Amino acid sequence: MKTDIIIIGAGPAGLTAAIYARRAGKSVKIIEKSTFGGQMTYSPKIENYPAFDAISGIELADKMVTQALALGAEIELEEVVGVAKNGEGDFTVTTTDGEHSAASVIIAAGAEHRRLGLEGEDALIGNGVSFCAVCDGAFYAGQTVAVIGGGNSAVVEASLLAETSKKVVVVQNLATLTAEAAAVDALLAHDNVEVICDTVVESYVVKDGAFSGLVLKNTSGERSELTVDGVFIAIGLAPANAPFSKVGAIDARGYIEAGESCATGTDGVFAVGDCRTKAVRQISTATADGAVAAVSACRYIDSLK
Ligand SMILES: Cc1cc2nc3c(=O)[nH]c(=O)nc-3n(C[C@H](O)[C@H](O)[C@H](O)COP(=O)(O)OP(=O)(O)OC[C@H]3O[C@@H](n4cnc5c(N)ncnc54)[C@H](O)[C@@H]3O)c2cc1C
Repeated sequence: MKTDIIIIGAGPAGLTAAIYARRAGKSVKIIEKSTFGGQMTYSPKIENYPAFDAISGIELADKMVTQALALGAEIELEEVVGVAKNGEGDFTVTTTDGEHSAASVIIAAGAEHRRLGLEGEDALIGNGVSFCAVCDGAFYAGQTVAVIGGGNSAVVEASLLAETSKKVVVVQNLATLTAEAAAVDALLAHDNVEVICDTVVESYVVKDGAFSGLVLKNTSGERSELTVDGVFIAIGLAPANAPFSKVGAIDARGYIEAGESCATGTDGVFAVGDCRTKAVRQISTATADGAVAAVSACRYIDSLK
């Protein structure tokens, strides 16, 4: 049976789209490959989502999922591997388990922060290892943190952390910081910032079950231990948009090209949240996209009648 709107991904963007589409009376199927709630489930404390002074990511995700289900959205635990348009109002969404049919598709597949891939990393995320200074910087106010990376995002993250942290140590694997000169100048204007180049993180240091620092290794092979309260990994985001390349143009960095309207180049297909080209990737911007795309998808379906 054809669903009005298939939503790919159950992060905040997809769940908000489901809430709006169900309230508009459309049938909705959300297809999620792994975690209901998406990236926010990695955050132990969210302090910048309106209406909650502080809430754990899992609790916020749970509230969004519960709301979408209570409104009648269906959820399937499957991985989408392709989306094809057969004609106006007629899409086939292929998953690892089979095929689904929809009149409109909202892609809400998000992105993942690139990780260092070191032993014990999964358990340390949210417990010493972070990816977002805007989200988690306040937890390290007055403390010492490391930032891993030397490109624009790392340097901007480090500058932001330097405003509130006691000390920020930037660890870059290359010989210099590769961010824009103005961003580097702004970073180095802080007197609590140290930059270590030609160095990689070899392992995390965990003492008495708690994160306590990093083992660094420079290009000469020398190792040293850096004691820090937290580390921010800023080596880029990795969207996984290959399954959607037939219905949405993908830019050089892997994001689906879509503006504030969330429209892709294909009528009836919308891209929302972290998976699309945008400047600020946060829960609030993801939910905003979900609302915009759901309303547009409803209009698209109604225009076919
Ligand atoms: C540790 C951490 C802390 C953060 N803290 C904050 C914070 O405090 N405040 C804030 O505003 N933001 C925070 N963020 C950022 C915020 O979580 C993201 O901006 C937001 O989750 C993006 O929402 P989204 O719905 O676009 O994508 P996501 O949350 O990434 O959700 C996308 C979903 O799509 C699924 N998916 C992907 N591909 C497929 C496929 N092929 N088939 C089926 N399902 C698929 C994924 O499994 C995922 O569940 C944090 C992020 C992290 C990692």
